[in-house]
Amino acid sequence: MSSSELTEDELAAESDIVSTPQLAAQWTRVRGRLQNEVGEVEYRTWLRQMTLAGLDGDEVTVLLPTRFLRDWVRGRYGDRLNALWQAENSAIRRVDIRVGNSAAADSRDDESPIPLPDAPLVSLAAVRPEERAEPRPELTAALDARFTFDAFVVGKPNEFAYACARRVAEQPASQGFNPLFLYGGVGLGKTHLMHGIAWDLVTRSAARPHPVTVAYMSAEKFMYRFIAAIRSQSTMEFKEQLRSVDVLMIDDLQFLIGKDNTQEEFFHTFNALVDAGKQIVVSADKSPSDLSGLEDRLRTRLGCGMVADLHATTFELRISILEAKAQRSGVPVPAKVMEFLAHKITSNVRELEGALNRLIAHANLFGRPVTLEATQEVLHDILKAHDRRVTIEEIQRKVAEHYNIRLTDMSSARRARAVARPRQVAMYLAKQLTSRSLPEIGRKFGNRDHTTVMHAVSRIGELMERDAGFAEDVELLRRMLES
Ligand code: ADP
Ligand code: MG
Repeated sequence: MSSSELTEDELAAESDIVSTPQLAAQWTRVRGRLQNEVGEVEYRTWLRQMTLAGLDGDEVTVLLPTRFLRDWVRGRYGDRLNALWQAENSAIRRVDIRVGNSAAADSRDDESPIPLPDAPLVSLAAVRPEERAEPRPELTAALDARFTFDAFVVGKPNEFAYACARRVAEQPASQGFNPLFLYGGVGLGKTHLMHGIAWDLVTRSAARPHPVTVAYMSAEKFMYRFIAAIRSQSTMEFKEQLRSVDVLMIDDLQFLIGKDNTQEEFFHTFNALVDAGKQIVVSADKSPSDLSGLEDRLRTRLGCGMVADLHATTFELRISILEAKAQRSGVPVPAKVMEFLAHKITSNVRELEGALNRLIAHANLFGRPVTLEATQEVLHDILKAHDRRVTIEEIQRKVAEHYNIRLTDMSSARRARAVARPRQVAMYLAKQLTSRSLPEIGRKFGNRDHTTVMHAVSRIGELMERDAGFAEDVELLRRMLES
């Protein structure tokens, strides 16, 4: 069956497009939940002027009237808005918070009460007038100005992927690098690298008689565009448009799993472009061979060029990223705070960045310096969510193993240095890696007093500062426990 013979039902099943009234209802619930969570005062202060501008692919856009409010809401509530939206509608991946005025916001003066949940909140405001005005939409999604190669911090876990991306930007469609397949977990820099390639190509070729044309879009957007083209009977035009670019980038390809018709269309586009000597860049959350559910022939072709993965970040990389981002912000962030964040938020760069941004917004707003205390306070909720689920028992086991002592010595009364020091290390790590209080930790170590734990924590801290070899040892243990 050719793709253009999809029935309406198939189209609906494949697209899952959310209609505007549904979206409005979802938005109402998202606001309601947020209002409940943050309370009346906070809601009134920061959030009530939010309006929904619309849905584009997997991204909803929310507007706020000023830059200040936007930054504040982004920093303080961005993650929450994302999570609440995703809970309402799993197709939504991102909430874009921007400055803008929708008709609804304009007509509501500041003295009006908090909009009731059933107030008319949706207005397809002039966020992207160009897209609505033009019958033939831009093929590429907007590139994020922050996602350049310069802003990408390179370390062991991502240096290979970075090198491949640079190479493709230097010499698109060169042997062995086409397609470039980037994969890795959420928030590790796939999208950043793709935008980096696009920026690099576009800016360097801008002055040439034939600037390089790049189309970047999420796989989801690809699908929406494809389906829209079928609906408006303009598939030929869509295909031509796709095949006219020099570089095609499709982000988050895993989205096409189970979307057979779109996959097939992508496969044909892919082949046509590669045959014409054009560059393809694809990202996904898994390697081609692990993307089960993609058609075999597509998987095979995807693995034929260069496959590069972005590994989970290391402590060192997280520190470098924090340093780079703090420096850009112009707000001084003490090394201690960065170390603390790099230890606590290990999941991915997006969350790390989110935490730092919140700290910076807070510092700017209240004109107070960033300190460790302020960090713990401002990031209370994030830190709680990231609290390791390492148990004290695990710590004791690992440490005993590492120093080759018996597990029972963790709680025994023996005071020989060969036993006491590892015990102190375990107490120190228990304090760092769990949210247990000092007395609770003491109890787990043979009912010792909390002052003993306190002493152990400061003693180990001192030793680590004095003895680099010892510090490395403890760090190693920490990392083993964290992974
Ligand atoms: P992914 O697409 O893999 O989910 P993104 O590319 O969207 O992840 O990255 C998430 C966020 O983290 C972005 O704001 C990005 O700029 C930032 N980021 C990720 N890796 C790095 C890095 N190595 N250096 C600087 N910023 C990074
Ligand atoms: Mg991404």
